[in-house]
Amino acid sequence: MTKVVKFGGSSLASAEQFRKVADIIHADDARRYVVPSAPGKRFSADTKVTDMLYACYDLAAKGREGFAEAFEKIKERYTDIIDELGLDLDLTEEFNTIKACFIGKAGRDYAASRGEYLNGIVLANYLGYEFVDAGEVIFFTDSGEFDSERTQKVLGDRLKSLERAVVPGFYGSMPNDTVKTFSRGGSDITGSIVAAAVGADLYENWTDVSGFLISDPRIVKDPLPITTITYKELRELSYMGATVLHEDAIFPVRKAGIAINIKNTNAPDDPGTMIVESTSQKPPFTITGIAGKKGFTVVNIEKDMMNSELGFGRKVLEVFEKNGISFEHMPSGIDTMSIVVHQTEFEPKEQEILSGLHRNVHPDTIDIETDLALIAIVGRAMKSARGTAGRIFSALAHAHVNVKMIDQGSSELNIIVGVAEKDFEAAIKSIYEIFVVHQL
Ligand code: ADP
Ligand code: ASP
Ligand code: MG
Repeated sequence: MTKVVKFGGSSLASAEQFRKVADIIHADDARRYVVPSAPGKRFSADTKVTDMLYACYDLAAKGREGFAEAFEKIKERYTDIIDELGLDLDLTEEFNTIKACFIGKAGRDYAASRGEYLNGIVLANYLGYEFVDAGEVIFFTDSGEFDSERTQKVLGDRLKSLERAVVPGFYGSMPNDTVKTFSRGGSDITGSIVAAAVGADLYENWTDVSGFLISDPRIVKDPLPITTITYKELRELSYMGATVLHEDAIFPVRKAGIAINIKNTNAPDDPGTMIVESTSQKPPFTITGIAGKKGFTVVNIEKDMMNSELGFGRKVLEVFEKNGISFEHMPSGIDTMSIVVHQTEFEPKEQEILSGLHRNVHPDTIDIETDLALIAIVGRAMKSARGTAGRIFSALAHAHVNVKMIDQGSSELNIIVGVAEKDFEAAIKSIYEIFVVHQL
């Protein structure tokens, strides 16, 4: 039995957290390959090492004052952990190299990646495991895509020769040997890649909550954890802001059929959430989870009989495409079509898009609404449950929330509703109430 275990930033933020991590690893012989993040927040006002690295590098790159102090602060985060754990480890040489590379403008990705790199060295030393630099075993292509084939081969061969190892998360290398990171939260992806490469029986993802919760705990108080969730449901939820697991982390394990277990470093006996390809397990509620994001704009286009106008949709989308804007959703009616886009991408191109639309499709009216939040209500049981949309509407009406848009995914796995940003929290709470609290 082989398990790959990934520990997030809060799980490795201090010496005390490192001790919990070692206890967890030692409690199960199958936990052979360990993927650490950089030290995260020790308390809520604290700064993650990754963010310190970005800020410090920006000072170095712009030749600004304060670089040396910022660098010392980062060094301190590690030496505090090393000293408190009483490790026989001196990172002076590593820090000198990194400092020189910052001054030599080695790039933001290189800078950020050092958080995981150094934490990997510390954790490997503490556990007595081999350290495998992700830069030697995780690869990207020239165009910056993850190179699955080459990685699988090199990483698989390397790890098969090692009984136990630590592979830092978040980064890999480009064909020209420069360092590249995944997007934020990307250590989850590394964990998944390692699990696939060694053909693990299970990928355990250890964090600071007892699993994937039905809703964001920062919005709903003490939401219930989800016992079992499918890859598809999870992807919908993580894409829409349930950030507990990176949305791309399921791809490598999905192909290999490896389950992911989200677990809590601070409550290791809690069962957490199992993420699986499919399950016969009946979910306890009609919905599996709720997630949402702010910062959207909707462009409503109206034209009588647009439905019968050949190529109308294509001509509309062409305008967005030409301006480099991808769309998030596109609900439509007989005479109306709405395009939901990211506000920050849309704003600088707004007038070009409006004139483009007028030129291309001659609409009767175009109306733009901003400051929109999208909420995804996701659940494999929604397919067979009748009246789900109706229940969502009545929950929102009850909470005096005005629905601006609704879109049901063709998979019948999710319903997306658009509400004003100011109603976001109230909307999520009311949906949780009706589907979970009232169902208990
Ligand atoms: P790590 O540092 O371990 O990778 P993250 O901060 O990336 O952890 O993810 C865990 C956090 O995700 C939780 O502390 C919680 O605040 C947040 N979160 C948002 N939505 C959810 C959800 N539906 N279930 C659980 N956690 C969630
Ligand atoms: N340390 C990186 C970040 O803060 C990667 C991760 O935590 O997964 O985004
Ligand atoms: Mg994370």
